Amino acid sequence: MLIITQPAVTGAQIDHIVGRVEEFGLKAEVLRGSHRVVIGVIGPEDLIREKPLAAIPGVESVFAVMKPYKLVAPNGAAPPPVRIGGVPIGTGQKVVLISGPCSVESKEQLLSIAISVKNAGARVLRGGAFKPRTSPYSFQGLGEDGLRFLAETRAETGLPIITEIMDTRDLAVIEKYADCLQIGARNMQNFSLLKEVGRSRLPVLLKRGLSATINELLMSAEYILSEGNPNVLLCERGIRTYETMTRSTLDLNAVPILKAKTRLPVVVDPTHGIGLRDYIPQMALAAVAAGADALMIEVHDDPERARSDGDQALVPEVFQDLVRRIRAVAAAVGRDV
Ligand code: PEP
Ligand code: MN
Repeated sequence: MLIITQPAVTGAQIDHIVGRVEEFGLKAEVLRGSHRVVIGVIGPEDLIREKPLAAIPGVESVFAVMKPYKLVAPNGAAPPPVRIGGVPIGTGQKVVLISGPCSVESKEQLLSIAISVKNAGARVLRGGAFKPRTSPYSFQGLGEDGLRFLAETRAETGLPIITEIMDTRDLAVIEKYADCLQIGARNMQNFSLLKEVGRSRLPVLLKRGLSATINELLMSAEYILSEGNPNVLLCERGIRTYETMTRSTLDLNAVPILKAKTRLPVVVDPTHGIGLRDYIPQMALAAVAAGADALMIEVHDDPERARSDGDQALVPEVFQDLVRRIRAVAAAVGRDV
């Protein structure tokens, strides 16, 4: 940590700052420049971070030298892929397609969509049984029946399943059925939920919050890893900006940054990211070009009757055509599906 002192800092204030730092059990190194005095604070970064250094008189600002996230950061070794069921994500070579409806609505609906996305090239099935809806009067999901339909569909198609968890009280039941837990955008900073899934044996797909910075996403991932679960996938799903033409603004900037700053696989969800069916394919292709390890794309065989997110669901034929183009872009950047 570096303390930058105010231009008019007095000798007495510098002595006071050094005294405070030492009282905290840390070491202070005073560097006197021709215009400014900078004080280096040496000691365990976690301990330093929680001290109110900026509140000491004469201090202008305080800069962290180390990043606050440790477990998510690269550690020199090649990062291992995260497995959903038997499907590894983050191998560097494969672009994994995760697809399925927004909500599980019935066994027939789920199975029919699962078969078509599998035939098109998807390797993981998604579907919400507990839905985070803006309105309490909207369809909230089928709950455990939905989980059962997911597990039955996995048995029939071989596709591992990912589904959202919204409440710590549902973990035990979801763990009975699912291969991967999804933390939705609205719960990215639900710290008790993060800690709870951090103790699960299942991998966790963590979606970026609607207004979360990349740093906040990484700190949320750090919560999960710090509880002992190393199997976290980071998902860029669009953030809220001043733009109203689209549902969200898909932040593809995040992809190379997350790839560089972490050892975790990066998933892009262009469906919620742009929220407009006609433009999802373009953003999916761009995400592959940007380096995404996996894509999550919603598909529905009857979008006009979908119980959630019908406006942004691709029909199976469009998804199939998109996968053909995804294969071409993947090949152009030395990868495959
Ligand atoms: C979803 O995946 O259906 C969903 C609700 O996503 P998000 O949390 O990104 O809005
Ligand atoms: Mn959805």
